[in-house]
Amino acid sequence: MKIAIIGAGLTGATLAIELANKGHQILVVEREGTAGGHVLDEMSGNTPVSKFGPHIFHTDDEQVMQFVLRFTSMKTIIHRVRSYTKFGWLPWPINMETIEKIYNLSGQHALNALEKDRQVEIADTTRPDSFEARALKQMGRPLYDTMLRDYTLKQWGRHPSFVPGEVMGRVRIKTGYNEDFFSDKYVAEPVGGYTNMVAAMLNHQNIHVEYGILAGTKILTTLLLSYDKVISTAPPDVITNSKFGKLDYLSVNFGKVDTTDPRSAMIVNSWPTAVVNFPTTDVPFTRGTAYHRLNNTTTPEYVIEMPGSGEELYPVRTEAQLALHKKYRQWLDECGVVSAGRLGSFEYIDMHIAIRKALDLAAQF
Ligand SMILES: Cc1cc2nc3c(=O)[nH]c(=O)nc-3n(C[C@H](O)[C@H](O)[C@H](O)COP(=O)(O)OP(=O)(O)OC[C@H]3O[C@@H](n4cnc5c(N)ncnc54)[C@H](O)[C@@H]3O)c2cc1C
Repeated sequence: MKIAIIGAGLTGATLAIELANKGHQILVVEREGTAGGHVLDEMSGNTPVSKFGPHIFHTDDEQVMQFVLRFTSMKTIIHRVRSYTKFGWLPWPINMETIEKIYNLSGQHALNALEKDRQVEIADTTRPDSFEARALKQMGRPLYDTMLRDYTLKQWGRHPSFVPGEVMGRVRIKTGYNEDFFSDKYVAEPVGGYTNMVAAMLNHQNIHVEYGILAGTKILTTLLLSYDKVISTAPPDVITNSKFGKLDYLSVNFGKVDTTDPRSAMIVNSWPTAVVNFPTTDVPFTRGTAYHRLNNTTTPEYVIEMPGSGEELYPVRTEAQLALHKKYRQWLDECGVVSAGRLGSFEYIDMHIAIRKALDLAAQF
């Protein structure tokens, strides 16, 4: 078959190589000048620096891990995050140390206090399924106010009672002292970065990639006329010239820290972990990453993040937006376009899930 794939991110590249290996002829169209999508990074000396925030590969899925290892070697890392709060740098996700420091109590006493706070009646029941209502039920007021409230306010630019409750699904509370961010069997980074890994995935005689092509209705129509199958990993509104209206995404701006400035150097040197969160309103940033510490490399690179506009990073999955996405998806289905990936499916998926879903989709051809 002749198959066209829109988008050369992780989903598009996984589909391309799997389908090419089955003997299909693949065209990939990509709007940027490079493959990689959200996992794009650039080498600074021996340190890979992500264009769109720190990316840590983690999975329990043996098949996904073996798939990745076909294109890169992986370096096992220990990933930990601490948050800057009025109680000091506290572990994130919340663990026993976080709970003890916030309650100024130890062990079971701290857990009892937390349990009491979780039972407290929530006054605002107007939006019981909001992020805030769910968070308060799950962790009580003191933990929520310290670790999440202002972070959410900064990231979303709206009060947490107007943020979809499902976002809380990604927040975990650990009751032990272990502060590893992930508990998966594999937590690792590709040696040489993700951009090189994705480029290796697209290196096949049956795969042709056209860069600098922003697919809209016109290109979509051409692809539908010339290819047996079209799979899109691009935002559904973009490839249809926003036929039914705009889908909403949160975005973030990234800035390199200039460490020749002594004050900045002193600040970043105080970060206790490779990735740090700033859940308070007195700091405008949401997150900081010391990429060399994350990757155990020697070229220092520090990047800070703050909410901004631009690249579609996080789909805003409110009821209205999900309904709009469903409308797009139905329309694209009827036209014979398969929607896939983080943008095509309008959902948060980590890299191992993006690969798993792409492997499963490719198996259907
Ligand atoms: C800030 C951030 C941090 C993350 N951190 C982690 C992490 O630590 N661990 C983890 O496992 N996952 C993480 N993820 C998730 C990870 O980035 C995704 O799982 C992965 O990138 C999904 O790949 P994709 O191919 O589905 O989407 P994308 O990478 O978005 O690929 C879509 C591609 O389509 C292209 N495109 C878009 N529109 C068009 C168009 N109209 N025409 C042509 N091409 C188009 C884009 O340029 C892009 O190359 C993070 C995501 C973000 C946003």
